[in-house]
Amino acid sequence: MPIRKLSPLLVNQIAAGEAIERPASVVKELVENSLDAGATRIDVQVEDGGRELIRIADDGCGIPLDQIELALEAHATSKIAEAIDLEAIATMGFRGEALASIASVSRLRLSSRTPDSPEGAVIEQAGDQRVGVKPIGMAPGTVIEVRNLFFNTPARRKFMRAASTEVGHINDTLGRLAMAHPDVGFKMTHNDRVTFDYPPGQTPRRRCVDRLGHEIEEGLLEFESDERGVRLWGLAGRPVLARPTAKHQYIYVNDRPVRDRTVMYAVKEAYRGLIEPNLQPMVVLFINVDPTMVDVNVHPTKSEVRFADTNAVRGQVLAVIRQALLATDLTPSIAVGQRGPGGAFNKPAGINPADLFIDTATGEQSTDDETKSRQFVEYFKRMDPKQKGFVYQQVKQDAVEAGIARDEPRNGNGAHDEEDEKLNEGIRASSKPILQVHDSYIVTQDEQGIVIIDQHALHERMMFELLIERVRSSGSLESQRMLTPATFKATDAQIEALDTIGPLLEKIGVDAQPLGPNTIAVHAYPTLLFDRGADPVAFMTDLLDRCTDDNFIPSDEAALHEVLDMMSCKAAIKAGDHLRDDELAELLRRRDQIDRSSNCPHGRPTTIRLTLKDLEKHFKRS
Ligand code: ADP
Ligand code: MG
Repeated sequence: MPIRKLSPLLVNQIAAGEAIERPASVVKELVENSLDAGATRIDVQVEDGGRELIRIADDGCGIPLDQIELALEAHATSKIAEAIDLEAIATMGFRGEALASIASVSRLRLSSRTPDSPEGAVIEQAGDQRVGVKPIGMAPGTVIEVRNLFFNTPARRKFMRAASTEVGHINDTLGRLAMAHPDVGFKMTHNDRVTFDYPPGQTPRRRCVDRLGHEIEEGLLEFESDERGVRLWGLAGRPVLARPTAKHQYIYVNDRPVRDRTVMYAVKEAYRGLIEPNLQPMVVLFINVDPTMVDVNVHPTKSEVRFADTNAVRGQVLAVIRQALLATDLTPSIAVGQRGPGGAFNKPAGINPADLFIDTATGEQSTDDETKSRQFVEYFKRMDPKQKGFVYQQVKQDAVEAGIARDEPRNGNGAHDEEDEKLNEGIRASSKPILQVHDSYIVTQDEQGIVIIDQHALHERMMFELLIERVRSSGSLESQRMLTPATFKATDAQIEALDTIGPLLEKIGVDAQPLGPNTIAVHAYPTLLFDRGADPVAFMTDLLDRCTDDNFIPSDEAALHEVLDMMSCKAAIKAGDHLRDDELAELLRRRDQIDRSSNCPHGRPTTIRLTLKDLEKHFKRS
């Protein structure tokens, strides 16, 4: 075939092939235009999943009569004029392709009126057939109707799914845009049924909650940060809201919905240890950076972006979400499970020194000294370490006056030890009931109600924190040399892996070497596992299996975490292990001292709580 220039229709259809995948893509492009036009209300009407009709009406700036034909031309745009404008894009559109593309694969009708014009103009196009500009009476703004999408491109038409599927995509696309523009009203109608109708002038939080569902509002933790030109705001879902897919992640860069792998990875990292690895956290995240610091011109649908400083963005996202999660008591209430992801969540117990001697059950001032003493210890344990020093002094004064503490002179460094000792005594003496059920669960009480703990999950979390702390403080874990090395048959891949994970093994206290062509000998192995009687061969084979996995990068912090996860699991108390009373008490004492005790390293909850409120409800007392 000789070389020929493609017809304009074909050029537009090829462009449509990239950006207009399905009815939802049409909605996205047209609504972005309405947003760029400064609309305060956008009304979307869809019939038969968008095959029959997609109609978008806005009250934006409109298109002047003499430019309306141009709007349908390819590479015609009012948004950028020269290459330099590409460096800092402030509008949703800029490619000047959408209208031309859509018009080339549908029957399109565009009517528009600017506020200062007495009437509007209408133009129609189907394929390359155009019906010229005619006057039309209409309110200021723009109305675009797209009928019979893909009528002249049968291949694309075949890919359209059932109306319900297509309308699902439209809802999602429009909903994502609506979340980023709470100042604009959005109404969506499918086959005359209104799907949603958000008023203009909402706050970002209100709009997000309207969109995500009011029943989960309590499950959303708001966060915000602003550092080195990167502004973040969003809502992080509690771990109970995590789902198997990332559909419930709403990530925006400069108010543009994106699917950015780096950012999604950082979000997932923030939930490490709080959700199971196969689940995806629910999150709304708005990233705002100077338009010159991000390139949105990397993808035809602009759903991917490139940051000038990816690491800064990733680090900040990880830190702000992690912080929001760690600052919250994530122990799920039983009511959560019952009422689905909307149930009651427990706020962290606030500490008010004035409340110290108030009985939490009756709300009355305690009178007997023993109760006061116990309450003091309870409160003290829950207290923010920063507050402890201050409150200890203040409370001790009260306690001295109440006759439950001796006022000793503080003498040098010894004073702290004494304080600690006294505190521990108080804890040991506390008469909190502790019960082990089926040798697997620990049941006890806290100030909010009944607490049920999965002993394996909790101990695993403790082991993990302990190991991480040791690696951080001394660089590696303590190791136990074996009198006779443990050997096992190994595959080539496993023997090869030994080399690449050498530094990692050293960190965790393993010395393993190839012994001949297909055997590995373990000479030394972490003391902790040794003490717990864990089998070195089973541990090594599990470890090597993990390390030969494709996405395992041994030098990554994540790899170390994963290996420590494995070790914690092996070293932890198992379900079915009987614990003595003092062991139970010790476990609970240490539980209060660790971060994130509410979840095991794999993200499963370690603890659930039945609050007094829940009990009252169940027993129909309230
Ligand atoms: P782009 O958005 O990349 O500029 P489009 O093909 O989507 O390209 O639109 C072409 C032009 O038509 C826009 O630049 C704008 O000037 C005009 N336009 C499209 N839709 C609207 C609208 N709803 N309101 C006002 N002007 C519009
Ligand atoms: Mg556009």
